[in-house]
Amino acid sequence: MDRTTDDPFAEGGIRFADGAQFIAGRVAESTGDQHADVIDPSDGSVLQRVRLASAADVDRAVAAARAAFPGWSSATPGARSEALNRLATLLAERAADFARVETAQTGKPLKLSSEFDVPGTVDNTAFFAGAARNLEGRAAGEYSGDHTSYIRREALGVVGSVAPWNYPLQMAAWKILPAVAAGNTVVLKPSELTPLTALMFAQACTDAGLPDGVVNVVTADGRTAGEHLVSHPDVAMVSFTGSTPVGRRVAELATRTVKRTHLELGGKAPFVVFDDADLEAAVHGAVAASLINGGQDCTAATRAYVQRPLYEAFVEGVAELYGTVRLGDPRHPQTDLGPLISFAHRDRVAGFVERARAAGAVIAAGGRTPEKGHDGTDLTLGAYYPPTLVAGVPQTAEVVQSEIFGPVLAVLPFDGDDEGIRLANDTPYGLAASAWTRDVHRSLRATREIAAGCVWVNDHIPIISEMPHGGYKASGYGKDMSQYSLDEYTQVKHVMYDTTAVARKDWHRTVFGDR
Ligand code: NAD
Repeated sequence: MDRTTDDPFAEGGIRFADGAQFIAGRVAESTGDQHADVIDPSDGSVLQRVRLASAADVDRAVAAARAAFPGWSSATPGARSEALNRLATLLAERAADFARVETAQTGKPLKLSSEFDVPGTVDNTAFFAGAARNLEGRAAGEYSGDHTSYIRREALGVVGSVAPWNYPLQMAAWKILPAVAAGNTVVLKPSELTPLTALMFAQACTDAGLPDGVVNVVTADGRTAGEHLVSHPDVAMVSFTGSTPVGRRVAELATRTVKRTHLELGGKAPFVVFDDADLEAAVHGAVAASLINGGQDCTAATRAYVQRPLYEAFVEGVAELYGTVRLGDPRHPQTDLGPLISFAHRDRVAGFVERARAAGAVIAAGGRTPEKGHDGTDLTLGAYYPPTLVAGVPQTAEVVQSEIFGPVLAVLPFDGDDEGIRLANDTPYGLAASAWTRDVHRSLRATREIAAGCVWVNDHIPIISEMPHGGYKASGYGKDMSQYSLDEYTQVKHVMYDTTAVARKDWHRTVFGDR
């Protein structure tokens, strides 16, 4: 591919020629000797060769964050809010650059990065600019009669954040914004596969006037520098988004130094269609919810349970619509589905489908990648995988139980409502779910009984800055976005004043002497 005309950095994007670390307000070179290539998965070309952070670079970033903490945490909420408002404006001005680079490093369609990832991040930034001025606590009062008590909500210190590759910009924002709005300082480790927009975000923070060291980004691998960050004695809280096995490891490491942890982990969202549902809405909803971001979305619909009377029509409808999805170059404005994040991940996704096929599953759509895209792209050069519908599998099947993280939907029939809800709850995960019905009582029951951090009714995927995102069960704990996340990045202090000015207090006799 001709990169001179198609360079994602050509029109103002930042080229991190000087390094892939952002420490104390500026781009810095790593001192480590490991490198990684940021690859465009649509054709395997190298976008940027980065030198990964060493443990010493992580130490430098933590030290910068620690040095910035006293000033930033004592800035007024109004001052923090103003800086975040300026950041929102800057991000909006740079929206096209962010979208272009996000698409280049992930392969997600440009229409998704420019209409979802980037505007979502701008809105999130504006939300946290407002939320910074609205920390909550109980009213002060004389609860003992002899004292006045009040609550202070205080920042924790340096937050060590670790993020995945699926929504690199949004994940960076979800981790950084509530933390800094509450007065913490941050060291973020993005995925080494996709560090570019996190670095651009950090640069925008500096340009918007956030003091040096408030936001730091270390581009590093997980095993060495990532573990060093989450174990670091000067890190007060660890905020992690990624897979459940890595989350478990991160929690173990963080626990050793009694850090607060916030874990946003894997998902396997059920999509439950009751027999009174609007079939057209359910079919269209399932296609969009299973294919968003190539299915590399922790809340994507992955298991459709369809009540028997609608089952055949649902399978036919989804298979037919899957056939209309346009695979191609993610930069083409009409491309619906770009490549997956990497060739290794594409092979992993294909492995799930091949094992299901070998075990007797019906592959009702997809399962083999066509050679040519809708725009003439040679799909064999990129990490492409087609929308794939898997039917005829039991609830215990690997494709129903494990997180595939690709454009693969398993579909199973059910009979009574009890069975539909039981199956929806029958995986270790509990991040998100949806119920499709026109019956208010059915929907109320589903929203009450499905164990997930978010349950949609007659839709599946939309998120909003004002509302929390986070899991139940093996999908982790803690909330991103919303006031709830802001609360998590603070600690509550009870301050108690004696109001009596009495030297010999009555309660002392319970410890020594008499009244
Ligand atoms: P991953 O768990 O492999 O990696 C996530 C991050 O952790 C990366 O930055 C990685 O470098 C780092 N890491 C790896 N090993 C580490 C270690 N030992 N110590 C410290 N850090 C380490 O996940 P991924 O493949 O990047 O992303 C996909 C996963 O993320 C899926 O499971 C998906 O469901 C999950 N996810 C969850 C949410 C949510 O909000 N719950 C959102 C997006 C993605």
